[in-house]
Amino acid sequence: MKVALRDDDTSFFTDPARLAAVYHDVWDRLPVALAVVPRAAGFADKAIPEKYWKAERAFPLAENPALVEQLRTHVAAGRVTITQHGFTHEDFPGGYEFQAAPDIELRLSEGRAYLEQLLGTPIRLFVPPHNALSKRGLAAISAAGLNLLGSFLSFRPSMRPWDAHTLGNWWRVRDYRRRTGRGKADRFVYPHVLRYQHHAEFGCHSLIPGTTFAELSAGFDEARAAGGHFCLATHYWEVDATLKAVLLKFLDYAARHADVEFVAAERLFEEPS
Ligand SMILES: [Zn+2]
Repeated sequence: MKVALRDDDTSFFTDPARLAAVYHDVWDRLPVALAVVPRAAGFADKAIPEKYWKAERAFPLAENPALVEQLRTHVAAGRVTITQHGFTHEDFPGGYEFQAAPDIELRLSEGRAYLEQLLGTPIRLFVPPHNALSKRGLAAISAAGLNLLGSFLSFRPSMRPWDAHTLGNWWRVRDYRRRTGRGKADRFVYPHVLRYQHHAEFGCHSLIPGTTFAELSAGFDEARAAGGHFCLATHYWEVDATLKAVLLKFLDYAARHADVEFVAAERLFEEPS
């Protein structure tokens, strides 16, 4: 069983000391998949320092050289991997960035090339801002050959581009819901990789304020019993002492299982050999 950790919202606004404070005793146990915003927009948001709330421009990651240097060092040491998290992470009147931006395809390709060039590492995974994707957004990610790491990925076939795998995957998810006694309205994280023609998808469990160890261990136990994998997703900017304690307790719990391997999130998608 593979277990991975994802952290969202590293951007120009990130203080490298804050990332280190949260992960200094974690990233040597398992690499953290950092979902990085290439050119983060300044606007009123909990994840953005207040002095940038009225900035009305986007800030390329390179304008924070201390962070860039830290990321390069940690990538080289295998402590983090870099995934793409939108382009500006801004909201539009019609929805979140990868639902409603008029130029989704360009944002995807420019952001990926920028991160790869700046941080010197290939980008294989995409994490949508707010875990929200339109059909067009999903088509762009699939065409780019990126794999998708989400949370509670919507499976409504009407919301996705159709390929030869869609129907089979819909049945897999539906069958899992039925076997676990869930109704249509019950949210859950399907614990297996869903493979499509040009990309694959996997859902993460959220670690946010209020999440308990009991919830995470129950999700882990269920995924393990199903022969699946487990991904935990959080945001460094809201990890306080309480959340950190839950994270460490969960990692200790997972590590006690002999069949568990802590992996970089990219490895969740490897084909079984
Ligand atoms: Zn985000």
